[in-house]
Amino acid sequence: MDLNKLLRENLKSFTAYSSARDDYTGREGIFLDANENSLGSVAASGYNRYPDPYQTDLKKKIAQLKKVLPDQLFLGNGSDEAIDLLLRAFCEPRRDNVIIMPPSYGMYSVCARINDVKVVEVPLATDFHINYDKLKEAYLNAKIIFICSPNNPSANLMNSATVKRILSEFEGLVVIDEAYQDFSGQNSWLAHLDSYSNLVVLQTFSKAWGMAALRLGMAYAHPQIIAILNKIKYPYNINVLTQKTVLQALDNSAKKDAMIIEILEGRSYLQKALKSLQIVKNVFPSDANFLLVKFADPKAVYNKLKDKKVIVRDRSGLTHCQGCLRITVGTKEENEILINELSQFE
Ligand SMILES: *Cc1c(COP(=O)(O)O)cnc(C)c1O
Repeated sequence: MDLNKLLRENLKSFTAYSSARDDYTGREGIFLDANENSLGSVAASGYNRYPDPYQTDLKKKIAQLKKVLPDQLFLGNGSDEAIDLLLRAFCEPRRDNVIIMPPSYGMYSVCARINDVKVVEVPLATDFHINYDKLKEAYLNAKIIFICSPNNPSANLMNSATVKRILSEFEGLVVIDEAYQDFSGQNSWLAHLDSYSNLVVLQTFSKAWGMAALRLGMAYAHPQIIAILNKIKYPYNINVLTQKTVLQALDNSAKKDAMIIEILEGRSYLQKALKSLQIVKNVFPSDANFLLVKFADPKAVYNKLKDKKVIVRDRSGLTHCQGCLRITVGTKEENEILINELSQFE
């Protein structure tokens, strides 16, 4: 892959903003270089200093855990930041396009449209798998293909053989969004990072790790791609609270693993209980922490649940999702309340 051919014209000769923490990276000294308040902070101590712009300590620890090199890792304000930066780095507005496969995560097309980048839709087949023949016809002029696996909202993993074919044929970037990978029975695509220079893997701390409020997402790719993202990001995109809190949380991945087990138990319970209800037409298989469930009258079910203060997501308007609500697996008690309410609507 020739990255220079993919890169947006205006970024080919571009000098990034150089922050005070770029010019001097030492940690000791009298810091009079960044116009911070040297006296202290109105909030807790330490908040008067700008955070590490490249999150060195945090990246080192995540890289160790994920068995990649720190320079294969970009950290963003949620994985949404990485999606936006990929578009800004590689897609020429009004000229290039990106391929999305509906029904899928809404942010790919929203970010593309904000950046005035054309969106080509190649809908998934009715079984929610990639329509490979149609996709192949759309390769030309596309810079990025977004593949969400497990997919939101359909909850299924994409076929690995198909994804491998796309990775080896497509001459642009293949972004595989693994926000829900922790809940699936399949290994991460990170293991293939060294084999495909056009692969970008997205992961997040928002789901299995339970840190959605902290806003930390990851993009893994070839160091050249990561270097470009670093060049165009806001200098201090990850605040110090997030960096510190996640650094500590990484020592307790056992808690994440235990929660995953509990969520998978909840998922099995919900699958079984939902299937036994008359009003449920279908429960799609799930490799994620949610279920796509088909009802005869989804709006009525949605509203009745809302009246009982149980909020689910109406996805019935999306491609191939007629009649479907998306239901996140909750705690044991929440799952039981959901089933109890639904069974009273029968
Ligand atoms: C939830 C979700 C994310 C996570 O986004 P963050 O910005 O990291 O919170 C990414 N992709 C998909 C498909 C999701 O459903």
